[in-house]
Amino acid sequence: MALDLMFEEMLRQLRMHSSSEEQIERYKKLWDSAVDSAGDPLPCPICFLQGWASRVISIKEENGIAIERCKVCRETFMHRSPE
Ligand SMILES: [Zn+2]
Repeated sequence: MALDLMFEEMLRQLRMHSSSEEQIERYKKLWDSAVDSAGDPLPCPICFLQGWASRVISIKEENGIAIERCKVCRETFMHRSPE
């Protein structure tokens, strides 16, 4: 799974939207609990900042790049894939 790389991208998104350290800490906890209980949707950083519940789904993974999209705000995320 490309979760670590995906998490880095999500943190980058949070910082780009000038989140406070406190928001980033809360996002990390939300992410960790989603990863621990497989089946929980991975939180979208954009929706997180709006206070919306969201679900990020994998669109595709090819040529070393993974792409995910949020089903709520339609934002797409792109990051390196370990494959
Ligand atoms: Zn979203």
